[in-house]
Amino acid sequence: QSWAQMGLSMQSLEVLRKLGYEKPTSIQSQAIPCVSSGRDCIGVAKTGSGKTAAFLLPLFRHIKDQRPLESSDGPIGLIMAPTRELATQIHSECKPFLKALSLKACVCYGGAPIKDQIAEIKRGAHIVVSTPGRLIDLLAANQGRVLNLRRVTYVVLDEADRMFDMGFEPQVMKVLANIRPQRQTVLFSATFPRNMEALARKVLTKPVEIIV
Ligand code: AMP
Repeated sequence: QSWAQMGLSMQSLEVLRKLGYEKPTSIQSQAIPCVSSGRDCIGVAKTGSGKTAAFLLPLFRHIKDQRPLESSDGPIGLIMAPTRELATQIHSECKPFLKALSLKACVCYGGAPIKDQIAEIKRGAHIVVSTPGRLIDLLAANQGRVLNLRRVTYVVLDEADRMFDMGFEPQVMKVLANIRPQRQTVLFSATFPRNMEALARKVLTKPVEIIV
C-alpha cells in the first residue's frame, strides 16, 4: 500500500515525504483507513511499529474536517500516555505536521511546573498530549477554567497496558467522564490481557481490532 491511498491531505503527504517515510508500516496501512472511517479501534502493536503516526494522521484529518474552529475553544484531540517520555515523544512526532497544517498541540505531564502548562493551554491547542494524572490536575486548575474538554471528539489511549500497570485506570476513567460519549476512541496497547478487554468494553463502542 502507499500513502496516496489513505485519504490524507496534500500537506500531510508532503510532510511524510520530507520525513522520508516511504510507505505506511503494517499497523499504519491497517489502522489509518479504519480510524479515518470514524470507528473506534483497538490496535495491538508495539513501540517501533509506527503506531504513533497511525493515530496522529487520522487525528489531523479529523480536526481539519471540523474547521473552521478556534484553537482557544479547547482541544479536539486528546491523547493520554503513561509517561512523560512517551507523551513528549508523541508531541515531537506531531511537530512537523503542526506547522504544515496550521495546528497547535501541547504536551503536559507531572513532575514539571503546572503553571507553564496552563499558560501553554491558554495559548490554544487543537491537540493535548498528557499523562492521566496531570490531566486531572489541569481539569481542576483555576475552578475548571483552564482546560475544557467539551469539544474533544477524538481520544487516544496510548500504551494502555502500561497505563493500567501503572495504576492510572481511575484517572483515565475520570478524564473520560468529562468527554462527550459521542466521540471516537482509539486504544493502542502492546499486549491485550483480559482486564484490558473489560476496560475496552467500557470505553470503546463496537471497536475494530487490529493486531500486527
Ligand atoms: P512508533 O512505533 O510510533 O514509536 O514509531 C517508531 C519510529 O518509526 C518513529 O521514530 C517514527 O518516526 C518512525 N516511523 C513511523 N512511521 C514510519 C514509516 N511509515 N516509515 C518510516 N519510519 C516511520
